[in-house]
Amino acid sequence: MRDKNSTNFGFRCENCNREVSPAEKTARNHCPFCLWSLHVDSETPGDRDSSCGGKMAPVALFEKRDGWIVIHRCEKCGKEIQNKCTEDDNFEIMLNVIKNFQ
Ligand SMILES: [Zn+2]
Ligand SMILES: [Zn+2]
Repeated sequence: MRDKNSTNFGFRCENCNREVSPAEKTARNHCPFCLWSLHVDSETPGDRDSSCGGKMAPVALFEKRDGWIVIHRCEKCGKEIQNKCTEDDNFEIMLNVIKNFQ
């Protein structure tokens, strides 16, 4: 089981500068408004093991049985990490953002 309290927190998005509140059911690791993320995880979402700190762009999207997965690519080091979308992610923005990268 994931320790919810250690990974779930609000933050200010470095891409769109909006205030993001913690998600209710899952650890939030990307902005629900523009979908950008920060490179803070190394291998597993939530491990907070990376010291990179680069901004991560949403570059791809695919559907799994239990929900949508967004792939983030770090602008600084190029690492790609898969993340689960949260319920309040803006789906229209999501599709638009992804289109811009294709
Ligand atoms: Zn944002
Ligand atoms: Zn990085």
